[in-house]
Amino acid sequence: MKMSEPAIAAISTPSAPGGIGIIRISGENALGIAAKVFTPISGEDLTASKGYRAYYGSAFAEGKKADEAVCLVYRAPHSYTGEDVAEINCHGGLFITNLILRAVIEAGARPAQPGEFTKRAFLNGKMDLAESESVMALIGASGRQAANAALNTLDGRLSGKIDECAKAVAGVCASLSAWVDYPDEDIEEITAGEMEKVFSDTKTALEEILGRYDSGRAMTEGIETVIAGRPNVGKSTVMNLLTGYERSIVTDVAGTTRDAVEEKVLVGDIVLRIADTAGIRQTDDKVENIGVEIAKKRLERAELVIAVFDGAEKLTDEDREIIALCKGKKSIALLNKSDLAPEVTAQETEQYFDRTVTISAKTGEGRDEFEKALTSLLLSSGFDSEAANLTGERQRDCCQRAVKHLEEALEALHSGVTLDAVNVCADCAVDALLELTGKRASAAVVDEVFSRFCVGK
Ligand code: GDP
Repeated sequence: MKMSEPAIAAISTPSAPGGIGIIRISGENALGIAAKVFTPISGEDLTASKGYRAYYGSAFAEGKKADEAVCLVYRAPHSYTGEDVAEINCHGGLFITNLILRAVIEAGARPAQPGEFTKRAFLNGKMDLAESESVMALIGASGRQAANAALNTLDGRLSGKIDECAKAVAGVCASLSAWVDYPDEDIEEITAGEMEKVFSDTKTALEEILGRYDSGRAMTEGIETVIAGRPNVGKSTVMNLLTGYERSIVTDVAGTTRDAVEEKVLVGDIVLRIADTAGIRQTDDKVENIGVEIAKKRLERAELVIAVFDGAEKLTDEDREIIALCKGKKSIALLNKSDLAPEVTAQETEQYFDRTVTISAKTGEGRDEFEKALTSLLLSSGFDSEAANLTGERQRDCCQRAVKHLEEALEALHSGVTLDAVNVCADCAVDALLELTGKRASAAVVDEVFSRFCVGK
């Protein structure tokens, strides 16, 4: 265990009014600093605490009582960071939490950088890099499956699998090095067949993990979606129906690289990022402007198209144009207005779309079928939140590099070049895997990972 670093402090709860606000202090003399700001009603000395205790008392700032509070005490190494930790739980007002944080800083702590608590946990061996990243994924999870996947990664499911892969390949490297470096020794030679099996089994295992990544994204980052359809088929009504889903999260994110406004909608476990609904929502004349040309551009970029048709009117030429545009895209046809007399049958669209669902956006009828269709379409590659799952592009990149180096190792093996060359490729694969878990990641990589964290975590 490393020595404790100087104490850091931050507000660990969101900066918004709330029932409780937590000021977290970690590091050398964290309890001494807490004791300068917080006095237990029992009169006990916080610095003598054995830890794992909650003390009720008063928090002081600017020379007078600031709030009633509870202070939780953890002792190194059994804390989140692996250091002594004190958490002052006060009332969750913006002013109060900041006032107490200032008092904590005046008492000797320095303000924590983004992710610094978790970085200390990493440096103290409490979790590896992949597990640290899952902390952010867990905080940011917008659905059950995403949260479960993040929790499993935090529990070490991915790291366990990656370590297993790294170990297997490193084992081959060790045998090769021994044999190459000490040719005169009587070291049992590893056969080409054995090496090939390790490389290709590992490659298959990593490819499985990579394969799950895209469907995992459907639950974490969201699927870029376009609602297409000629005017008046019910696009805005569909959008309203979707945003009503399970108290869906609706956030307007003004795009930085795109000119559209994006809305996030949770349907079951899937997050849809629906572009430019601002335009779609304005029904009157503006909708007329959303012609086929604009739809075309949006469709090019989209990962999913929800094509809406007026099921109470025969398909028009414009509808057929939209059908043609959806070709080659992941797509769902919605035959809307099922509460009216049907004029379009599912058979008419089924052949062009991955799924066709009859729906009444107005009454909500068919909503469950839509959710089922969406889930079966987007999670068809079998996302399993219980399995080893990658969190984010950094991990995916490491995994991909490992696969590439294993392919090179296999190629080197087949082409009969020297075993040194095989060894170099295999070693690069091990490197990529150890970078994923952080066991061999550079300081720059580690800094980059934690810079994406929020302050207080
Ligand atoms: P958009 O132009 O495609 O966005 O279509 P809107 O959502 O504005 O809907 C056009 C018209 O169709 C409005 O009068 C809606 O009330 C109506 N509408 C939408 N969905 C349904 C539905 O499921 N049933 C019925 N009867 N009318 C609907």
